[in-house]
Amino acid sequence: MTNTAISESLFREAKELIPGGVNSPVRAFKSVGLPPRIISSGKGARVTDADGNVFIDFVCSWGPLILGHAHPEVLAAISATMRHGTSFGAPTRLEIEMARTLTEMVDSIEMVRLVNSGTEATMSAIRLARGFTGRDLVVKFAGCYHGHNDGLLARAGSGAATFAIPDSMGVPARVVEQTVVFPFNDLEALDQFMEGQADRVAAVIVEPVAGNMGVVPPKAGFLEGLRSLCTRHGAVLIFDEVITGFRVAPGGAQELYGIKPDLTCLGKIIGGGLPLAAFGGARSIMEHLAPVGGVYQAGTLSGNPLAVSAGLTTLQILRRDNPYADLERKSSALAEGLRAICTEKGIPHTVHRVGSMLSLFFNPGPVTSYEDVMRSDREAFSRFFGKMLEQGIYLAPSAFEAWFVGAAHGDEEIAATLEAVRRSL
Ligand SMILES: *Cc1c(COP(=O)(O)O)cnc(C)c1O
Repeated sequence: MTNTAISESLFREAKELIPGGVNSPVRAFKSVGLPPRIISSGKGARVTDADGNVFIDFVCSWGPLILGHAHPEVLAAISATMRHGTSFGAPTRLEIEMARTLTEMVDSIEMVRLVNSGTEATMSAIRLARGFTGRDLVVKFAGCYHGHNDGLLARAGSGAATFAIPDSMGVPARVVEQTVVFPFNDLEALDQFMEGQADRVAAVIVEPVAGNMGVVPPKAGFLEGLRSLCTRHGAVLIFDEVITGFRVAPGGAQELYGIKPDLTCLGKIIGGGLPLAAFGGARSIMEHLAPVGGVYQAGTLSGNPLAVSAGLTTLQILRRDNPYADLERKSSALAEGLRAICTEKGIPHTVHRVGSMLSLFFNPGPVTSYEDVMRSDREAFSRFFGKMLEQGIYLAPSAFEAWFVGAAHGDEEIAATLEAVRRSL
């Protein structure tokens, strides 16, 4: 048994001071029924907890750390930038360089605005889409997460289109009435709805590869279908690439699948481990933002120099080193290994992988929607999670979060992980 005395005592203290002891709910390990580890440090593919236990980390700060923890070049960039001051609330060269890099890397982005979190990016993109179209309704898909904005905290009832009900207390029903939820990967229902209500739909927002209900890839034709429906009915197609951006390809899922959205939301990797996010797209839409246009959007710390230098350095390293083929190879080895071990042990499973994001569902599949995802064996995942943690593998503490492989995971880490999987299962 690994020692957890210090983590447990610190977590008791945290719970007295912070609701649930955490600053974001899933960190509390509630769904796996264990006390969370208090993390003291990270280096490369590994994190160390307060008791000195070392783990191979597949959470990677929930996606941002594609280069691993404490990457020396990223740390050096932050340190060099901070000597000149930490925030000005005025334009800087770094922001311009970041904006140029984003327009070069992400095909559909002609102009971009920086914000501080993915939640802010989707909130602002939706306001912009509404301002641009003069319409109110927003279409989203069940199981897609777009941050904790009131209007997006809604999923579908079963089956057909449902006007959404809030997922959280404190969200007015009036607010989510403007959100319509459809099943992921189901074009038919949306097609019919758009025929009838198209002149009311401002935007369709989607995770092009769903990453917040485990990894669920788009079926062939799904993203193409969304593109043509939006074009036909004058709605703004928003790709929420907060996870997939710079992850599944340098230019995100839109590069991988060859689909051009009108607006793109970026987060996570873009900040290299500091708080940074962005939304961008066609000039003709982006110029509706204040101070050019009438859609208000602002932020005291937006474009913060430290966050921009960490993010920019991360993107520059990704462009320079082009680790994507290597990520593909390692992630594929991990996914194949998971499948082989489950098959060998007769465990019903579905392993999904797109690039370096993957997930293991204890579910015979197919898994193409939120409903399918919910049929997975969560009890089995909790037991699996606990056994993996005991063996020094830090997975996301939920059956429905992605595993992230990064440049810092070597063949040795993949092999050690599969060995732990074999013992755990
Ligand atoms: C994480 C995430 C968000 C929210 O980003 P925050 O920085 O946590 O606000 C939005 N969309 C997707 C797809 C995400 O994975």
